[in-house]
Amino acid sequence: MSTEESPSATPPTNFIREIIDADNVSGKFDRRVHTRFPPEPNGYLHIGHAKSICLNFGLALKYGGQCNLRFDDTNPTKEDVEYVDSIQEDVRWLGFQWDNLFYASDYFETIYQYAERLIEKGLAYVDSCSTEEIRQMRGTLTQPGTPGPYRDRPIAENQDLFRRMRAGEFPDGTHVLRAKIDLAHTNMNMRDPLLYRIRHAEHHRTGNKWCIYPLYDFTHGYSDSIERVTHSICTLEFENHRPLYDWLIDVLDLYHPQQIEFARLNLTHMMMSKRKLLELVETGSVSGWDDPRMPTLAGIRRRGYTPEAMRAFCEEIGVTKFNSLTEIVVLENAVRADLNKRSNRVMAVINPIKVVLENYPEGQVEELEAVNNPEDPSAGTRLVPFSRELYIERDDFMEAPPKQFFRLAPGREVRLRWGYLITCQSVVKDPVTGEILELRCTYDPLTRGGNAPDGRKVKSTIHWVSAPHAVEAEVRLYDHLFEIANVADIPENEDWKKYLNPKSLVVVPAAKLERSLANAKPGDRCQFERLGYFCVDKLSTPDKLVFNRTVTLKDDWAKLQKKQGG
Ligand code: ATP
Ligand code: MG
Repeated sequence: MSTEESPSATPPTNFIREIIDADNVSGKFDRRVHTRFPPEPNGYLHIGHAKSICLNFGLALKYGGQCNLRFDDTNPTKEDVEYVDSIQEDVRWLGFQWDNLFYASDYFETIYQYAERLIEKGLAYVDSCSTEEIRQMRGTLTQPGTPGPYRDRPIAENQDLFRRMRAGEFPDGTHVLRAKIDLAHTNMNMRDPLLYRIRHAEHHRTGNKWCIYPLYDFTHGYSDSIERVTHSICTLEFENHRPLYDWLIDVLDLYHPQQIEFARLNLTHMMMSKRKLLELVETGSVSGWDDPRMPTLAGIRRRGYTPEAMRAFCEEIGVTKFNSLTEIVVLENAVRADLNKRSNRVMAVINPIKVVLENYPEGQVEELEAVNNPEDPSAGTRLVPFSRELYIERDDFMEAPPKQFFRLAPGREVRLRWGYLITCQSVVKDPVTGEILELRCTYDPLTRGGNAPDGRKVKSTIHWVSAPHAVEAEVRLYDHLFEIANVADIPENEDWKKYLNPKSLVVVPAAKLERSLANAKPGDRCQFERLGYFCVDKLSTPDKLVFNRTVTLKDDWAKLQKKQGG
């Protein structure tokens, strides 16, 4: 967990630490801290889950406690081993190791026994009404519910029916087990909530052993209790489930963890619902769960985000009780800050135009020394070949530049990074289309390294790649997957997929990279000077290199240009 904070920064808020500190003073839970991260294995984890992971595992680390990874696998039809595996990989990738690995399905027998006890105490009954009838009889926020015909079934009858439900005597939907609490309760969750339903479905772990499955609310608190969790941390939507959480544990006089709710993470331009992310995968809107545009941890990992950046981000946003929308730039800045320290700089041209240096000797090649990372002297230097024919970005040249443009133009001199000062002499155009094919330039041999002995100034420095030495690669440039900022606010009945950004992926088939990248391996990271941080895609091969843009550079370059008047 990243605990370093610069002394000047205000420490991020985390009200849960304050609760734990108070509990440790009062001696509640015998000063133990035992948390859990409880995903349902019905999809890949996303950045929102990272907040919960960093919080739960981070608290365990901070207080010398434990954190369990528990799969909340009570819904057999939506869950899959693929997700169980990916979730473990993602938690490890974030840098955490669970103390115990549990599955809620391991507790099915115990939880069944708890249900038997509730029935025995007259606190649960088998209801044979349909789902629709049950829904109607629950009342509304302003009207109390009405008891159905089965609410006062004798205990013995409930026991008999419930056992026969377990034995598989009834088809799906014919009976449910409900708690008998209070149909007039102001909290709808307390109006005789469902505890068990019949589902003749195979479970990814228990197979066909069960045909009745406990509902989430019924399972969750008991799982926490069985594991002797101290602080059961969940998102704010569960605040009004807490009375039920407490009731279920108290009526059976079980060990009682404390449920604490915090605000979930919402990020602009990011969809944070596993159900909808699954839909994107299934409809082919993205290439898979690990498409680099996805907010999944698998996606951002493939894109080049680092676990260090994710942990720093989660620390920075803090933990509060108020729902809010975090700007995606906060996340991107955390990634930039981390990559800035660790990435070597290289040169790559993604929209090339050829430059021919007319006065540079044919066949001559010079090896110029380039600094790998100005942020990290230990990263050393490398040699970059320089020759008569180069590529520069098409955008770095304008035939008729406006006043504010200080890069290459006819008659204009610029600096080539680590190289020479060059001046554009003329332009070669396609006689038919008028497209600029080539720039004819001259170089000043006295300016190797980038400075003129006479002290004359040039206003702009541009990157380049030696044409005969260039390595070709596919480069994938990403933009937000969703055009609108507040994705979470799209109404449920709207076609949310219409807000997908059609330009979220731009593929550059043949970018020109400097020679040093010829042997780049999947997962390697670097900064293409002026263009952003990049990472070699997991499916890249030496024959077909593929780079993903992780994030653009902070607009340092624009600022620098401005300062220099360019
Ligand atoms: P989704 O709606 O994406 O399926 P979920 O809450 O149903 O999310 P779970 O597998 O139940 O997914 O989540 C595991 C844990 O992660 C829960 O404790 C949940 O509160 C937490 N979590 C999920 N989404 C977020 C989020 N956006 N911010 C913070 N925590 C989250
Ligand atoms: Mg959930």
